[in-house]
Amino acid sequence: MKKLFAVALLIAFLGSASGYAQTIEITRNASTPSIPGGKEYFTGRVVVDPLYPATAQTGATTGLVTFAPGARTAWHTHPAGQLLIVQSGKGWVQQDGQARQVINPGDVIWIPANTRHWHGATANNGMSHIAVSYMKDGQNVIWKEQVTDKQYNPE
Ligand code: MN
Repeated sequence: MKKLFAVALLIAFLGSASGYAQTIEITRNASTPSIPGGKEYFTGRVVVDPLYPATAQTGATTGLVTFAPGARTAWHTHPAGQLLIVQSGKGWVQQDGQARQVINPGDVIWIPANTRHWHGATANNGMSHIAVSYMKDGQNVIWKEQVTDKQYNPE
């Protein structure tokens, strides 16, 4: 029993030692080219700036997504959820079967796993958000059909 404890302590020590051996990594702004949002997944003008990839430690991709007025994602789900942090402008988010909601800079939106939804700019203003999309079995999004104009803006 004492031997087991000693081995456990050694493993814990080695674990923390290798932790200290890691180095802080700064990814400089605009070090990755912007990517136009694909026509199959978005309506309108959308630009994606990848910020940080999914790794064993992060378990999520992180990107800045910028929507022109009227632009939005297609309907989709996230197998392990998604965090949105609005950076600028004014946007809309809608969960299927619920009312569309306004989102503003500073708002933090948690999209639970397997929840059908879309997000984008409002009809009259652009919007940008950081999106943290958590990975499950190598996937972080499952795309569905486009959001129609009627669904996007019923008013
Ligand atoms: Mn989403």
